[in-house]
Amino acid sequence: MKTAADQQLVKRINRSLLLRLVRKQAGLSRAQLASEAGLTKSTVSALVRELVLEGWLAETPSTQGRGMGRPSTPLHLNTSSRAVVGVDVAVDQLRAVVVALDGTLLWSTHIPLKDTDPDWVCQEVARLVVLAQSQAELSSMHLTGVGVGLPGPVDESTGRVRFAPNLGWRDVDVLLKLRRALAQLGIVNVPVHVQNEADAAALSETEFAPGNADENLVFVVCDVGVGAGIVLNDRLFTGAHGMAGEIGHSVLHLDGPLCSCGRRGCAEAFFGARALQGVADLSLAGRCLGLVLQNLWTSFDPSVIVLGGASCITHHDLVQQAQETLQAYARSAGVAPPRVRQARYGRLASAVGAASLVLHHYLRPLQHTRQDGAAQTRALAATAGY
Ligand SMILES: [Zn+2]
Repeated sequence: MKTAADQQLVKRINRSLLLRLVRKQAGLSRAQLASEAGLTKSTVSALVRELVLEGWLAETPSTQGRGMGRPSTPLHLNTSSRAVVGVDVAVDQLRAVVVALDGTLLWSTHIPLKDTDPDWVCQEVARLVVLAQSQAELSSMHLTGVGVGLPGPVDESTGRVRFAPNLGWRDVDVLLKLRRALAQLGIVNVPVHVQNEADAAALSETEFAPGNADENLVFVVCDVGVGAGIVLNDRLFTGAHGMAGEIGHSVLHLDGPLCSCGRRGCAEAFFGARALQGVADLSLAGRCLGLVLQNLWTSFDPSVIVLGGASCITHHDLVQQAQETLQAYARSAGVAPPRVRQARYGRLASAVGAASLVLHHYLRPLQHTRQDGAAQTRALAATAGY
């Protein structure tokens, strides 16, 4: 027997399905949505009415079908009603953005990170969120959610940062601290999400991709820290403890240079920003980055590898050498390598990606709901019409 909670979950699943379909193909009508989603027209009409009223979807008056009965109305994401806010806690600064539902960047700012005390950082993040909210409200948009990217592995089930060596953090309950800091400034009842900065950056490429997103993508961040965000089958892959993609500490050379983590020969010790300082010839660093790309390719078989972070934006010779190295490995194996391209949002990739966390969670209720497994199973069965 279906419970009220099951029915609510089924409704959330259906709403997110419709939103994802419209996001993928703007201009769909209610009838086309019903066909694509496998739902009845009356169900789709009721859900679309809600989504339009709530500012998720908007209608475009159609001229098609004039004189041939009731015209169909194309639907698209409402880009002027809801805003998502992202904050990237980088090693030396905080970057904040306001983004529309389709990924249009509406506003951005950055301030220096003067202290790394977790409580202080969370209060600064909260202040930036209030500033971002006021910017959104100037355009009559309201805050739909907040995402924060952090330079360390994040345990998604608890919202704790396991360690962030470049901030000196270890096992910090950052989600709780953020919620408290936001509540003190009057921001309550707004979803708040935290994630590793590279994972967030990967989502900036998939959640806001025009048309069909790459379902298998690796985003490599090269900055003071080196990391990767991995999207597999349209889902973020973070591993058992949030540590998947910590490629900065994959060892490239036995007895190589000492790394900040205590190991020798880590990738970060070859092409982390500190290792690049004062180095005129980046060919070894570029070959090492290319080696990491080759290993990511054979490990995850992505359709595209995106390069981001300050080092990839600043050092063209580093990127070129890395690309040549990857191509050389591909020629040796006689296999075409994945596409490699630069980050769509440049230095703001992690901040925009943090904002996209709000959508990533909202549009995947089964993945992120805190309900128990049995309720999910019942809801799935109900969705399938059993
Ligand atoms: Zn290391």
